Amino acid sequence: MTSKNKKYGSCLCGKNKFYTIYKPLRSVACYCRYCQLRTGSIFGVTYWFEKLNLKFNKKHLKAYTFTTESGNKFKTFSCKNCSSSIYWEISHLKNQVGIAAGSYNKPSFWHKIEKEIFTRTRPKFLKSFSNNNFLKSPTFKPKKKDPKYLQG
Ligand SMILES: [Zn+2]
Ligand SMILES: [Zn+2]
Repeated sequence: MTSKNKKYGSCLCGKNKFYTIYKPLRSVACYCRYCQLRTGSIFGVTYWFEKLNLKFNKKHLKAYTFTTESGNKFKTFSCKNCSSSIYWEISHLKNQVGIAAGSYNKPSFWHKIEKEIFTRTRPKFLKSFSNNNFLKSPTFKPKKKDPKYLQG
């Protein structure tokens, strides 16, 4: 580990290789339907960084953008080859990127999860693992209604 806390990661096939420097601005587990569908999993774990602290040694990405219920543009980047979800940007968080915590080399989840959001769609069999929980998100201000499959 360097003094800048450089951490390396990649997608499943290895066509994307990245690293981040410094510690995350914050770390969040999100149970929203977007994260469940984006990952195919119960929740997404995101380490948020200043955009300039994410660097790629190898880059082979495609992007998909959609508008959230709050009217923000969510742009998610995944590998063009293997489709691993690697990072995302959301329009109200200027100059920040959210990195998929599981895409880091071992130990993937190297930073404590500080917050859980959208626990309204957390399955009952899963217990909370932080003291900082939100049924929705503190910034959630719906401006439109999503189709049923995306609703919390
Ligand atoms: Zn890949
Ligand atoms: Zn989410």
